[in-house]
Amino acid sequence: MRKNLKHYINGEWVESTGNETYNVINPATEEPMGQISLGTKEDLDKAVQAAKEAFPSFSQTSKEERIEMLENIAEAYARRKDEFIDVMTDELGAPLKISEKVHYSMGYNHFAQAAESLKNIEFMEDRGNHTVVKESVGVSGLITPWNFPTNQASTKIASAFAAGSPVVLKPAEMTPFAAIMLAEIFDEVGVPKGAFNLVNGTGETIGDGISSHPDIDFVSFTGSAGVGAKVMQNASETIKNVALELGGKSPLIVLEDADMKDAARNAVSHIATNTGQVCSAATRMLVPASKKEEFEQAVLEVLPEFPVGHPREGNYVGPLVSKKQWDTVQSYIEKGIDEGANLIAGGTGLPEGLEKGYYAKPTIFTDVSNDMVIAQEEIFGPVMSIITYDTIDHAIEIGNDVVYGLAGYVYGKDPETLKKVATSIRAGRIKVNDASHDFAAPFGGYKQSGIGREWGDYGIEEYLEKKAILGFPS
Ligand code: NAD
Repeated sequence: MRKNLKHYINGEWVESTGNETYNVINPATEEPMGQISLGTKEDLDKAVQAAKEAFPSFSQTSKEERIEMLENIAEAYARRKDEFIDVMTDELGAPLKISEKVHYSMGYNHFAQAAESLKNIEFMEDRGNHTVVKESVGVSGLITPWNFPTNQASTKIASAFAAGSPVVLKPAEMTPFAAIMLAEIFDEVGVPKGAFNLVNGTGETIGDGISSHPDIDFVSFTGSAGVGAKVMQNASETIKNVALELGGKSPLIVLEDADMKDAARNAVSHIATNTGQVCSAATRMLVPASKKEEFEQAVLEVLPEFPVGHPREGNYVGPLVSKKQWDTVQSYIEKGIDEGANLIAGGTGLPEGLEKGYYAKPTIFTDVSNDMVIAQEEIFGPVMSIITYDTIDHAIEIGNDVVYGLAGYVYGKDPETLKKVATSIRAGRIKVNDASHDFAAPFGGYKQSGIGREWGDYGIEEYLEKKAILGFPS
């Protein structure tokens, strides 16, 4: 059992000023796997003060010093690969392969990419009559969710460090141990005192405290749309800028000329990877009416390639993160049945043979209409809705008919149709067929999926202010 009842403030691990603790539950066993402290407003104040004191010197470090620091972090992170995999498998319930190929890898790539992107950022630009200087935005408050413990924290921290902005991080209380490992790594590589601070605790105390703190200049939040709105409201009191990375209900548009088996495998991987707890996952599969039966059949055929079970036993789909998340997913499955969608696989209850752990059945609904709740709301579990369309314009219309705009996917062959769909979906990231990941590409949402961009140079820009100087001596 892991135990860390301290917070990392001003370059050292310090006791919490409160005495409330929180048991972190392993969702595969329903047993505690660790314990943390729930911080107080006093702990947060100390962390913000440390970041504020670090600001004058940290913001003035040279680009070269920060590149070296990020490269050192990436190297130190890689040395602890096995432990990261172990921790995320236990705190999140991610299967070992997903912990390695998705979670561990994304965290590493954000530090490595930030070092690369920073090399090409110019902090001073002569624009004729004036000079533009890019400067650190100041003390940055970072609030992260549980579904990607290293990815979310790492992209924010790497961008902030690249910009010379000191941070206070509050990770999700359900998955805090990967973030605690990051603090240990920053300590090991000598990140300047106060440039990184970690306070564990609840959203109501520490998260709310960050978004309303007068000495925090910028807040980067990843989580649900409801909490995001509250963060923005709090931040408005002191006119601080916010970056919000919120939810999604992304479409995957399958073209008439697609190989239906390949498209179905791609579709199922979206709801299976990380047990569907992925903000950018495609959950609405838009299929030509003429191909409906073929696509449904292909989905049922590939489903067994994604077995559900214990994350340490070679399965692809692990448990959901918590009982609360399990209940939410169950209620959406019930809702889909009540709304009259046609259930062709999965359903409510535990998968056969599993009695302990928050496991849900990968669930496929077809004959879904886009105005059903299961087609409009983010479920955050292994649930797919198949919706049919008549023409490409109809598919695009359905794809965009949702409050979210985080991602969009298109699968097929005709280059002109692929281009048309890619440029017509109103979302921050579009993937054509099996395009591979690119950590330099910006990530973020249109509409109610958020404000701002993360990853690579666009991510770093979020942590920079732009100053115009007129009459700057040359
Ligand atoms: P959540 O909004 O419940 O919590 C996110 C974080 O906010 C946690 O650290 C939580 O403790 C904190 N928080 C809770 N109440 C708060 C408050 N009043 N003030 C400030 N902070 C508060 O979300 P979650 O359930 O942890 O994560 C799932 C959500 O995150 C999904 O909606 C998902 O789509 C979204 N998400 C988005 C992205 C993205 O990049 N767009 C990535 C991952 C997850």
